Parts: sequence; structure tokens; C-alpha cells
Amino acid sequence: MEAFNLTPPQWTESAIHSFDFFCPKCGASTMEAKAVWINRRSPVYTENSRRKWQEFYHCHCNTSWWAWSSDRPPSKYASSEQDDDMGDLDLDIDI
Ligand SMILES: [Zn+2]
Repeated sequence: MEAFNLTPPQWTESAIHSFDFFCPKCGASTMEAKAVWINRRSPVYTENSRRKWQEFYHCHCNTSWWAWSSDRPPSKYASSEQDDDMGDLDLDIDI
């Protein structure tokens, strides 16, 4: 899985900053992304001393976008749907 590679995949180079954790082009959620990469090399410390980092998503519409991990909305999908779609991808990396 490339999500936790240290080297950014090429598609992250043109990523657009999304502020609402949806694809800025087609509005798809992260659930529909065909690839994800998380920049864990350079976490940023927020004012609350919590770490946040950039999460990059490669949407199925071929748009690349990223958002701060701290901006991710609380999961309303709970575990059920998320487990089905991304069971092999542990995105819950808050420590
Ligand atoms: Zn899209």
C-alpha cells in the first residue's frame, strides 16, 4: 500500500487544497478516492499541540487534492461502511 510510503507519489504534485474534505472538482468523498497518500514526514503542530498532516487523495475523476488531517470531519460512517470500502487501509492514524 502506498499510503504510508515516505516518498510522495507523482499525482500529489498537482494536488489542490480542499477545505471540506471532498474532491474540489466532483465533490466525491475520500471513500471514492482511488489512491491516498499521507505526508507523515512533516507533521505540523497546531495551537492545541496536536499534530496534523497533509492527506492527499487521488479522486476517481483524476483530480488530486489534499486536506489537513485535522479538517477531516468526524466519521459518520462509523466502522461499518468504512470497513467494507477501505478495510485494508488504516486511515485512523490519530495518535
Ligand atoms: Zn473528483
